[in-house]
Amino acid sequence: MPTYTREQIGNMVDGKLQSDSVHRMLSMPKDPERFEIYLDVLQEKVSWKDKIILPLGPHLYIVQSLADKKWVTKCSCGHIFGDYRENWKLNALLYVRDTEEAMSQVYPKLMAPDTKWQVYREYCCPTCGIMQDIEAPTPWYPVIHDFEPDIDAYYKEWVHLPLPERAN
Ligand SMILES: [Zn+2]
Repeated sequence: MPTYTREQIGNMVDGKLQSDSVHRMLSMPKDPERFEIYLDVLQEKVSWKDKIILPLGPHLYIVQSLADKKWVTKCSCGHIFGDYRENWKLNALLYVRDTEEAMSQVYPKLMAPDTKWQVYREYCCPTCGIMQDIEAPTPWYPVIHDFEPDIDAYYKEWVHLPLPERAN
């Protein structure tokens, strides 16, 4: 079974690996050492000390607050979106591209989707403005709560690590 170096994992975090390599890494059997290095690399990139439990995106994490051991969803800049079980998107800044003009900023003319059928919703951090996620639903579709990871099972059954303390 191939293993991954700290450099490769660092590259993955920086988005330098091709997406199929990322997919291969993520779909490989999980091992505690690799996951711990991964968390280490992520932790080194942020300026705060709350413990990263699980990344949700390149700039979004579930963390254990150092102060009270509560688990929250947090931006790389330090902004806290709220309890980790809540849909963080409801506390994000939302920009909806629902006009031809707004679409033309991201699509060449004639290639943009018809905004009667599809819009872009960009969810940004209210503090630093970074885009955390983008949805391309039909205009009337409710805000999507992507996934609620089963963190307990992930730590216990996949990476075999003790679950960090959780006060909420
Ligand atoms: Zn932020």
